[in-house]
Amino acid sequence: MTASPVVELADDRVRRRGLRLFLKRDDLIHPELPGNKWRKLRHNIGPAREHGTLLTFGGAYSNHIRATAAAGRIFGFATIGVVRGEEHLPLNDVLAYAERMGMRLTYLDRTAYRRKHDPDVVEALRERWGGFYLLPEGGSNALAVKGCEELGAEVPGFDVVCCPCGTGGTLAGLAAGLAPRQCAIGFSVLKGGFMHAEVERLQRETYGRRRGDWRVEDGFHFGGYAKRTPELDAFIDDFAGRHGIVLDRIYTAKMMFGVFALAERGAFTEGTRILAVITG
Ligand SMILES: *Cc1c(COP(=O)(O)O)cnc(C)c1O
Repeated sequence: MTASPVVELADDRVRRRGLRLFLKRDDLIHPELPGNKWRKLRHNIGPAREHGTLLTFGGAYSNHIRATAAAGRIFGFATIGVVRGEEHLPLNDVLAYAERMGMRLTYLDRTAYRRKHDPDVVEALRERWGGFYLLPEGGSNALAVKGCEELGAEVPGFDVVCCPCGTGGTLAGLAAGLAPRQCAIGFSVLKGGFMHAEVERLQRETYGRRRGDWRVEDGFHFGGYAKRTPELDAFIDDFAGRHGIVLDRIYTAKMMFGVFALAERGAFTEGTRILAVITG
């Protein structure tokens, strides 16, 4: 698989501040395993095939559930998706697709889901489903962070590299893969202000310490995960009109909104070369 393309965005909102803005089109990596989901899964495929079955967790609209189901089909291992909440029939597009790819779906109510990685919950899943390779929610484990470290190595020459944060795995790896004078900014799509601690935890799990120059912006979640506002919707429409790219409203739209807002506030010095990763 070749490196995803980088394109410069001609946008006067950044140009008039003397900045240059580029997009890393990770959304074009693979039709069924796009963006950061492929980077996070790739090193987990070997262990999943060894175990024969992979079990993971996600919300009912999770890109991670979708990509994991596709990976199981493509690379030949069974998949179990543990979905937050109750079953709703008919299945939505993501879950219907996952099932078509052969994923077996099971559900945990919200209280149990919050404790999904606790030993007793995992033990109950093992009793029910037999042996499996466990991939945490959103696919974020040390091998996933390693996969995202490769993203950092693909983007030399930029001063600031931006990505959205859901579980923080992408930022944890990206930041670790950057060269010494580069820095990473993650835009949290969740409210609660815990993303910084999550990224740090994932870096410690992977490398034993914090790595790279990075920070999390917590002011662009628009109310929380999958929440939207008329302002965000208008931004997505405007961006599509200007650049012909429809931003994903859960992740990349919130990041891009944040990048322009920071530029507007004068957060970047003149001449800064900014790269925004279109993660999916
Ligand atoms: C899953 C996802 C993210 C979040 O990545 P994390 O590693 O969980 O922070 C960002 N962007 C897109 C498009 C995604 O699908």
